[in-house]
Amino acid sequence: GKVRKQSEVFYKEALKHIVGGVNSPSRSFKAVGGGAPVFMKRGKGAYFWDVDDNRYIDYLAAYGPIILGHAHPDVTEAICRAAENGLLYGTPTELEVTFAQMLKDAIPSLHQVRFVNSGTEAVMTTIRVARAYTGRSKIIKFAGCYHGHSDLVLVAAGSGPSTLGIPDSAGVPPSIAQEVITVPFNDLAALETALARWGSETAAVMVEPIVGNFGMVMPKAGYLEGLCSLARQHGALVIYDEVITAFRFQYGAAQTYEELPLLGDAKDAAAWKAVEPDLTALGKIIGGGLPIGAYGGRQDIMEQVAPLGPAYQAGTMAGNPASISAGIACLQALKQPGVYAKLDSMAARLAAGIQTAADKHAIDLTINRIGGAFSTHFCNHPITNYEEAQDTDGEIFAQFFRLMLDQGINLAPSKYEAWFMTIAHSETDLDETLTAVENAFAVMSKTR
Ligand code: PMP
Repeated sequence: GKVRKQSEVFYKEALKHIVGGVNSPSRSFKAVGGGAPVFMKRGKGAYFWDVDDNRYIDYLAAYGPIILGHAHPDVTEAICRAAENGLLYGTPTELEVTFAQMLKDAIPSLHQVRFVNSGTEAVMTTIRVARAYTGRSKIIKFAGCYHGHSDLVLVAAGSGPSTLGIPDSAGVPPSIAQEVITVPFNDLAALETALARWGSETAAVMVEPIVGNFGMVMPKAGYLEGLCSLARQHGALVIYDEVITAFRFQYGAAQTYEELPLLGDAKDAAAWKAVEPDLTALGKIIGGGLPIGAYGGRQDIMEQVAPLGPAYQAGTMAGNPASISAGIACLQALKQPGVYAKLDSMAARLAAGIQTAADKHAIDLTINRIGGAFSTHFCNHPITNYEEAQDTDGEIFAQFFRLMLDQGINLAPSKYEAWFMTIAHSETDLDETLTAVENAFAVMSKTR
């Protein structure tokens, strides 16, 4: 295995100054047995180097944004150019108009957009706008979907198929949790029950149209159509959280994806039919690696937002030239022909190789692959909702994670997180990764 002495040293020091030693809990190794996370110092293309000069092939892609690989020259150049022209103006700029037009061209349901600084902010504001528009206060969300860390969406399901929420975090008041109803994903009957009871108070149904937060999970055939029509029957808006999905599988968002083959081999991919929401939240890829979020949607709904309407939302850093420039450069690179086909075919090869190795070593493994992203679940059942994703072996995942890390393969330290392909990965990287997987599974099958 690799020696990570310097990471241990930095982690010890970090613990003194930064709560938990990390600036986002997902970076801690708590879920994989604890200890020092790896401190990276440089990224280029598909690779990371840590503070001990170990090299890693990266499949974390910073939880999604780094779809072009690390330090992509077009993005770097765009950021440098922006920095030279002044980082922050507090005035409108032409760049924002250009980028808003690009997003609208790619995602036509965005009649109007607004740029913010994170996915959390984007989602949080769509809820405010939906409440302002409908004059209602409740929202319905789905168990296991993550929508950032604002109060309203840090609410989990209580017991039973459709319940008022319970706070998922200390500091979220029960009064706020009561405004949230959580139902299981991929279960139209549960949504119907919730709407029958709370429909007239519901401002919006909030969903990841293709789930990225408890594995990569496709909606079942007809599910999104059903969700949208049920919500609308009750006068509730539909909000898509496309923070992960936008520009991930094709140029556009889940609501525009049409060419079925590029949605990969996840179950029910063939039945995919794009359905438009009323409001959309964006983030991650659209900033090319810099902080960004955006939200938008139907004209009459977006007119609720200040300065046109009574729903307030603002931001000192919102639409800053560096984030916008990085976003434009990133989308321009993604627009090049063949990009998504390459991500799809590399992920297909990798996922198939991993499954073959698992079968060979009699390790139970379910892979959900959608285009250039896939999740690996140590279990022998399909993953279509959060309950099924929870019911997988976290200890086996932790062992796998560490065996991979020791062979220079960087994955997210969570059994729920996907592997993200970038355009920087090469066939040689895949060979190296599959060898590491084979070695890991050989060890795992012996020790269990
Ligand atoms: N929505 C989804 C679907 C996400 O996956 C995330 C982050 N993983 C967020 C919202 C929050 O975005 P951010 O971390 O930029 O606040």
